[in-house]
Amino acid sequence: MASTSVLESMTPAGHENVVFGRDDATGLRAIIAVHSTALGPALGGTRMHPYASEEDALTDVLRLSEGMTFKAAAAGLDLGGGKAVIIADPATDKTPELLHAYGRMVDRLRGSYITAEDVGTTVPDLVEVGTETRWVTGLPTEVGGSGDPSPFTARGVVAAMRAVSRRLWSTTDLTGRTVCIQGAGKVGAHLARILVDLEAAVSIADIDSDAARSVALETGAELVSADDILSTECDILAPCAMGGVMNAHTIADLRCRAVVGSANNQLAETADAGRLARRGIVFAPDYVVNAGGIINIAFEVSASYDALRAARAVDSIEDRTSQILEEAERNDISPTQAAGRLARARIEDATGT
Ligand code: NAD
Repeated sequence: MASTSVLESMTPAGHENVVFGRDDATGLRAIIAVHSTALGPALGGTRMHPYASEEDALTDVLRLSEGMTFKAAAAGLDLGGGKAVIIADPATDKTPELLHAYGRMVDRLRGSYITAEDVGTTVPDLVEVGTETRWVTGLPTEVGGSGDPSPFTARGVVAAMRAVSRRLWSTTDLTGRTVCIQGAGKVGAHLARILVDLEAAVSIADIDSDAARSVALETGAELVSADDILSTECDILAPCAMGGVMNAHTIADLRCRAVVGSANNQLAETADAGRLARRGIVFAPDYVVNAGGIINIAFEVSASYDALRAARAVDSIEDRTSQILEEAERNDISPTQAAGRLARARIEDATGT
């Protein structure tokens, strides 16, 4: 009987290192995946989520860490790709002791993996993790870190929206553009604030209705139900919640001209890039759009941190997105394929392959 190689099934995209961590005293169950260190140490956030199964957690961390390799490469950073997941409910299971145990797990990788925040973890959580390891970024500015990366991620999303706007409407001015934001979390809330300041017409939704209501009250954005946000008519849809939201089913119901958001791995499968293109919807590749946070963190990793320089570097996402959209048009390929080519070319340059 043919048997599947364990190594092959655990590292389907050629991951360099996948580590399972367990600490029974604190209930820690975590997986760290280092996809590539070709361009530098593997940097990526720690997601805390009550996954239905360990298989789901593994699938997520493998996909997310591979995405980080492409994200750093496409952004021109000297960083590799990694990610971690803690299988736990952030609302009920998170304790300082669990975070300390996780910090020891990160430390054992001796800097080949550097962590940061992600869905379900916050800057104060990283401070706890940082009591056990120095391989933590996105620490508060008071302790020399770069703070919460989310405002930079949101700034980068707006930069990408400008590029898409120039392509679709021949202007980078977002005044009056209708934008629907799915997810009123750390990035979604900042994005709403920036867009409202720019006088865009913003609608927002979250499965946590209190979160959405609070952002709507603060910014004046219109509140939409989480069930309706993807199919609400708008110029730009900004998925800022979980991955996999663009699929055969949802794409058929979209009523937007472009999809530009922060969520990682928005396409459920590769074929969704073609589905969006056939509907005439411009999809700005998520890992290019949402690189603002990691660009900011790269300044924290490499030298003494300077927020202004970091913000200017984040704004370069506008030019990079324009370049990718132009490449896609010139070669009659999807923007996702064009971004993949850009990232792969950089990794091949570095590794000489
Ligand atoms: P967050 O946890 O602060 O916010 C996510 C929000 O999405 C939560 O409020 C949650 O209730 C909501 N949500 C989940 N499912 C939903 C659904 N089906 N419909 C509507 N709302 C839903 O996370 P975040 O830091 O704001 O990140 C958002 C996305 O952007 C994630 O995919 C994350 O991986 C990605 N991202 C974040 C950063 C960053 O700097 N924080 C950087 C790059 C990418």
